[in-house]
Amino acid sequence: MRVLAQVAMVMNLDKCIGCHTCSVTCKQTWSNRTGVEYAWFNNVETKPGVGYPRRYEDQQRWKGGWMLDKRGRLVLRSGGRVKRLLSLFANPDLPSIEDYYEPVTYDYDNLVGAPAGPDIPVARPRSVLTGRPTAITWGANWEDGLGGAPEHAGGDPNLSGEWARKVKFEFEQTFLFHLPRLCEHCLNPACVSACPSGAMYKRTEDGIVLVDQDRCRGWRMCVTACPYKKVYVNHATGKAEKCTFCFPRIEAGQPTVCSETCVGRLRYLGLLLYDADRVGEAAATADEQDLLDAQRGVFLDPNDPEVAAAARESGIPEDWLAAARRSPVYDLVCRYKVALPLHPEYRTLPMVWYVPPLSPVLDAVTGAGGDQNDPDHVFAAVTRLRIPLEYLAELFTAGDTDVVAGVLMKLTALRSHMRSSTLGEEADESALAAVGLTAGEAEDLHRLLAVAKYADRYVVPAAHKEDAAALSAIENRCPVETTGDPQPRKVMLGIPTLRRASDGGRA
Ligand code: SF4
Ligand code: SF4
Repeated sequence: MRVLAQVAMVMNLDKCIGCHTCSVTCKQTWSNRTGVEYAWFNNVETKPGVGYPRRYEDQQRWKGGWMLDKRGRLVLRSGGRVKRLLSLFANPDLPSIEDYYEPVTYDYDNLVGAPAGPDIPVARPRSVLTGRPTAITWGANWEDGLGGAPEHAGGDPNLSGEWARKVKFEFEQTFLFHLPRLCEHCLNPACVSACPSGAMYKRTEDGIVLVDQDRCRGWRMCVTACPYKKVYVNHATGKAEKCTFCFPRIEAGQPTVCSETCVGRLRYLGLLLYDADRVGEAAATADEQDLLDAQRGVFLDPNDPEVAAAARESGIPEDWLAAARRSPVYDLVCRYKVALPLHPEYRTLPMVWYVPPLSPVLDAVTGAGGDQNDPDHVFAAVTRLRIPLEYLAELFTAGDTDVVAGVLMKLTALRSHMRSSTLGEEADESALAAVGLTAGEAEDLHRLLAVAKYADRYVVPAAHKEDAAALSAIENRCPVETTGDPQPRKVMLGIPTLRRASDGGRA
């Protein structure tokens, strides 16, 4: 067992109001510069919709993430080393600026400098890239609140199954929810493995994936390899940039900017301990629908004395172990199992997880003439929710509707129980028992999901610079051992892919 710690995030989608505050504060902090005007390290998508960049989830087109080859070995979908090297100068699998959007500014000078005349002067949009007047036809959140959905939301790659025929975009029949996205700081990051320069790396101490600007040569293999399209090329410097998980704040024990400023208070940050020796095996799980359990199987129980001993041996400090025991992320992902990863089928083992949204289920029960206190009526309503189970399953469980239904039933039972107890009614615990919760656990989960304070939502231990030497005792290699090649990847590519901040890596 090789224990490593990762700072991970969970978002409770029921609470996202789509205000985009997280995106704006992130942009102001990290990408408010020439060359990355089009880049949103954090963006908030309306689902259903094609997303940003357009149809990024279509891996047949963009070749992101990992897949199993004919012999069941884990390989990059973008191809092996030879194929990637051959496409260094002409890579057909890169999104163009049209797939993101053309960044614009406005002709503000005209507003104050236009000569007096009969018309009110206007500020026409100008392309930031060419300086020429342009028409605004797309944007990072063009589809906000299902804007234009009847025309283009059908292009959402998650709507490709037969079941999607029942998804309607008429106002009275449709559904929507917001999906905030950032780099997943994956356990098995395709971007790191695809980088020919060794510029992308995953930090040993906290799992944050960064780009070393000094090493980046602008080959853009990371952009193709990332299935979430969360690496951006700065067109002024020609180098890759991405979400840094606000590492200077994390090192100081503070939450990321997007978390700190989240209006819905739906983000949680905490440590997950994991066994780095099992990452490769988990990512290569044969059945896509087993990847969720496989990834959960890599995470370690911080209360297990054996795990704690192995963690100490790996150089993980005591206060980090204490933080791992208090981690809200561990509770939501492993203890209560209500958080799910985005597109586990990409096999990168993402570390930003989501509590799926629950439509107003208790109203649906009453609307159908049911009894809100009858578990059978409540659970039956979950299968008739406005947001189709199949859609959520496409996003979070590689199509397994049973897992999504199980999570939604747990949340429904929790809601029903807390409603009864808040109203002073006699609580029927049979619904809770049916989803594997006791009354005490339900209250704990309710506290976490509904009323958790700042200190409960963000449990981020400060970095230990003085322990940097101890961390170097951990073998400096990528968690995934092979990509079908018997050699460790660091030998295969000639680069160390796990690095410490003290090595001088910069974002
Ligand atoms: S989500 Fe982040 S860590 Fe994962 S492959 Fe993309 S850029 Fe790399
Ligand atoms: S700030 Fe929070 S509530 Fe607002 S869009 Fe971002 S994640 Fe959603």
